[in-house]
Amino acid sequence: MRVLITGAAGFLGSHLAERFLREGHEVVGVDNFITGSRENAEFLYGFDRFRLTERDVSQPFFIQGELDGVLHFASPASPVDYLELPIQTLKVGSLGTHNALGLAMAKGARFLLASTSEVYGDPQVHPQPETYWGHVNPIGLRGVYDEAKRFAEAMTMAYHRYHGVETRIVRIFNTYGPRMRPGDGRVVSNFIMQALRGEPLTIYGNGSQTRSFCYVEDEIDGIYRLFHSERREPVNIGNPNEFTVRDLADIVLEETGSGSKVEPFPLPEDDPKVRRPDITVARDLLGWEPRIQLREGIRRTLPYFRDELERHDARARTIQ
Ligand code: NAD
Ligand code: UDP
Repeated sequence: MRVLITGAAGFLGSHLAERFLREGHEVVGVDNFITGSRENAEFLYGFDRFRLTERDVSQPFFIQGELDGVLHFASPASPVDYLELPIQTLKVGSLGTHNALGLAMAKGARFLLASTSEVYGDPQVHPQPETYWGHVNPIGLRGVYDEAKRFAEAMTMAYHRYHGVETRIVRIFNTYGPRMRPGDGRVVSNFIMQALRGEPLTIYGNGSQTRSFCYVEDEIDGIYRLFHSERREPVNIGNPNEFTVRDLADIVLEETGSGSKVEPFPLPEDDPKVRRPDITVARDLLGWEPRIQLREGIRRTLPYFRDELERHDARARTIQ
């Protein structure tokens, strides 16, 4: 197969590209490097079946040659990023999805949308099954991301129903692992970097809000299976083991052996109080469930962040 991955220089896009390449496929990556980086995808150049082109997919774009799949992962994903880039986030979720769907239609390719647990907003049903319509504040700060993804899902289903495009939608729940940007502002990267630097861990609110964290290798495996399945409606892919933010801080402190303290900060607007996927559909239809639990996943992630910290410190020494 020859597949296009938008956002291939990002955290998930680069892992997904690696999976397709390891399975023997050809990957064309496009990215505008707004939250990703060339270095993130650097190791992929070791595969001669990979190429990466700089493109803003919110502008109309075309790819030469045949494509069997279009996997649309381009979008700022960390709350800090999408709050800094509200218009770009709305554009890549709406115009970018439209452009990627148009390309999939022109090529007769299967399309997969990277959607999110944020379509459920601050959920009033817990855990969240795919049938839940969500509880989103359209005009709140997080609305730029949530509504862009909800629009993207609607557009994807319309292309399927109206144009007959083969479509798949994955609702991704908090995923972490190597190749996250250390400064992306997400809770796992923040806590690990703070613990390694001996700085206080910044807990927003009282830390009782929950998330269900999925290790990247598990997440990619679920997405890869979904892409090859016949399921057209959205599927939750995430780890259903739920933790408070305070639990996560404790695990990071234990696994790093850090003496950092924790420091409370205000809870951001509309921050979901709970989040946990119901993965019955993924289990039954894809035979998928996560294998790597949080503590083990954090252990596997730490060497990457230690290297990043060393590289950062070495660069700072060179500049001095
Ligand atoms: P990321 O920020 O690491 O990667 C996103 C990539 O998209 C970056 O390389 C960025 O430069 C690129 N991009 C953004 N706008 C673009 C545009 N207009 N044109 C071309 N490239 C563009 O984020 P991630 O965590 O890898 O997330 C990837 C996808 O998965 C996103 O669509 C996100 O919404 C979704 N998702 C991720 C998570 C998670 O926990 N990581 C959870 C839910 C959904
Ligand atoms: N959070 C925190 N400290 C941080 C970053 C995040 O307590 O330094 C909290 C945040 O308020 C949220 C949870 O951790 O309740 C997950 O935040 P993240 O930005 O990783 O992703 P979200 O699930 O909110 O999209």
